[in-house]
Amino acid sequence: MWNTRLSELEFDADKLAGALEAIESSWITAGPRTKLFEAAFAEAAGTEDAVAVSNGTAALFLTLKALGIGPGDEVLCPSMTFVATAAAVLHCGAKPVFVDIKGLGDPTMDPEDAARKVGPFTRAILPVHYAGIPCDMSSLTTLARSKNLLVVEDAAHAPGAVHKGRPCGSLGTAGCFSLFGNKNITTGEGGVITTSDHRLAERLRLLRSHGMTTNSWDRDRGRPARYDVIEVGFNFRFDDIRAALGLAQLRKLNAINSRRAEIVSRYNDRLSESRPEVILPFTSLRTDIIPSYHIYPIVLPSREERDALEGQLKEEGIQTSIHYRPIHNFSAIRTRFPDVHLPVTETFGSRQLTLPLYPSMTPDQVDAVAGAVARSISNQLV
Ligand SMILES: *Cc1c(COP(=O)(O)O)cnc(C)c1O
Repeated sequence: MWNTRLSELEFDADKLAGALEAIESSWITAGPRTKLFEAAFAEAAGTEDAVAVSNGTAALFLTLKALGIGPGDEVLCPSMTFVATAAAVLHCGAKPVFVDIKGLGDPTMDPEDAARKVGPFTRAILPVHYAGIPCDMSSLTTLARSKNLLVVEDAAHAPGAVHKGRPCGSLGTAGCFSLFGNKNITTGEGGVITTSDHRLAERLRLLRSHGMTTNSWDRDRGRPARYDVIEVGFNFRFDDIRAALGLAQLRKLNAINSRRAEIVSRYNDRLSESRPEVILPFTSLRTDIIPSYHIYPIVLPSREERDALEGQLKEEGIQTSIHYRPIHNFSAIRTRFPDVHLPVTETFGSRQLTLPLYPSMTPDQVDAVAGAVARSISNQLV
């Protein structure tokens, strides 16, 4: 159906070999490979610890839960994100308070709107590094410090992204990553929480596995067979098969992200020739950040032109997506919070289109997509 898909998996022999070794070792649940993966992930994110969990949504939920966010609390988060960001807040019994984005060329959380939305019940800020563009974390952490708020990064798009020399995931109390199939590094399903707070890491490990004081790997190694349950927890565990896949990908993270950067730069060159009214967020980046280029968003002059381009590209076999329909407009959120209005987020959501981007995309494929975009939008000019 598609000539060019939105994203493609690159599972090479090297990754599969590691997973096969895990299976052959006859220890497939969380064990030595998960520990190695966590250590390698923490190193890449510039934190002292990392806790692997079953998916990115579980990473967000467990982190908020472990930090004691609950009923009566408010958490500032964007609406220009995947629904999981707000769902994690809601499942804790807390209220997501939606913050607008900076602009159509910088769709990350607007620190000034965040400051306006801090109230007596605000406990945390949950910024999302949209498309792998680090948020303005200096302003957000300054705000958090002045109001005594926690900062939890939704870094699902941002493994390897850097803000003022420091990796995303190390810029707040904790960072939450997703290893889902379309993310920069993937294990199929999976998630990781990064933190340098030892007590938080300990609590996350406890809650990840039913609040039990020992895990089955340790018992297998001859540690005490009796355990206590000191908190009612969850099963959000990771496993060693996926840890092997994750370790192999983590080794290539820099290469993967550099390749993504090259493709983005080629798109930028080709598309900026076509029509100046099309906004390309990756051409107007703040100078103190290095993105991880998770997706390639463009912003058309109107909803009609976006929809027409989407249809035209589909006809040509080019898969696109919309990142995102603002989540405060989804029925399940809108019915709870009917009065939310975020002008910039709504405009961005109505005019945004995501073009294909994955490391093995060839220059010819990029040119073909950019050419199709240019043809479509110049036809619409008449
Ligand atoms: C993918 C994603 C998540 C959720 O991750 P899962 O692993 O799919 O649960 C959360 N936030 C954002 C911004 C995402 O893109």
